[in-house]
Amino acid sequence: MAWKYNYEELLKKAYASIPKVSEATSRFEVPTISGGFEGNRTLVSNLNQIASKLGRDVKHLLRFMLKSLATTGEWKGSKFYFIGKFNSRVLNEKIEKYVKEFVTCTQCGKPDTELHKEKGITFKQCQACGARSSVRSIK
Ligand SMILES: [Zn+2]
Repeated sequence: MAWKYNYEELLKKAYASIPKVSEATSRFEVPTISGGFEGNRTLVSNLNQIASKLGRDVKHLLRFMLKSLATTGEWKGSKFYFIGKFNSRVLNEKIEKYVKEFVTCTQCGKPDTELHKEKGITFKQCQACGARSSVRSIK
């Protein structure tokens, strides 16, 4: 029987199979906006992807965005059009603020949290360390 792998390859395979969960979460990067201007509007083409990467409802993220940008907008297919011109730096700052307030754990800083509503109050529950904190509701 021939050796299928040499030693180095086996070593590589062994390293590759080590779970990278903690590494992945500690290297969590806030996703950034893709889009551009269209006339007097700003389109964002990856809002759904950002929300799903953050594990949040896109409607919740959008309410936050619209409120902090003090504007409105509409969906066209999978793209969202904000009324007004907002450059990507401004939009990415809003995403970062959202992540800080509604996604990452206030105790351990990991993004493995879930939002639960109890008696009208929304709580951010951390799956990593178990910490729980209340978050404001976005009307
Ligand atoms: Zn935590």
